[in-house]
Amino acid sequence: MGGTVTLKAVLFDRDGTLIVDVPYNGDPQLVRPMGGALEALRKVRRAGLATGVVTNQSGVARGLLTLEQMHSVNQRVDQLLGPFDVWEVCPHGPEDACDCRKPAPGMILGACSTLGINPEEVAFIGDIGADMEAAAAAGARAVLVPTEITRREEIEAAGNVAEDLHHAVELLLSGALEHTTDRALHEQDAPV
Ligand SMILES: [Mg+2]
Ligand SMILES: [Zn+2]
Repeated sequence: MGGTVTLKAVLFDRDGTLIVDVPYNGDPQLVRPMGGALEALRKVRRAGLATGVVTNQSGVARGLLTLEQMHSVNQRVDQLLGPFDVWEVCPHGPEDACDCRKPAPGMILGACSTLGINPEEVAFIGDIGADMEAAAAAGARAVLVPTEITRREEIEAAGNVAEDLHHAVELLLSGALEHTTDRALHEQDAPV
């Protein structure tokens, strides 16, 4: 038995995954989708899966952008790449010790709750280790799509790596990606 849980939603990191990372951006005019982002999202939506955005925006806590600016950037992202079924945004900084800032699983769990699905039915695509850790902590599948800022050890630690969003989505929709739980079971079964 495969044990593969049917995927019902794909959640995406925002900066460096769906759009080009402009650090602490508060200007909607600077929003540029990553190559292939719209096509990848269309493919996910055509497959009948929900889509969502899960993003750390510590620039708010750092006083580098206002909540209003952050919302206007998110609105622009929604205009270019949406509509998304769920948005989860953490405006806190690292010192706030909140439950939402990735690598904490709070936002992924919040998105699951909004969508009325279980974390095992969700995949998260991001560009750094904190994205992978948040997904693992939530019990969701994850795919890393590295950019220039992704550290080598983050790539090595990631269970699933794709060269771009197109390939990440292919991996998820083809079912080629093993759920971490499945892998753990296989490892247990393997002769020592
Ligand atoms: Mg990112
Ligand atoms: Zn937070």
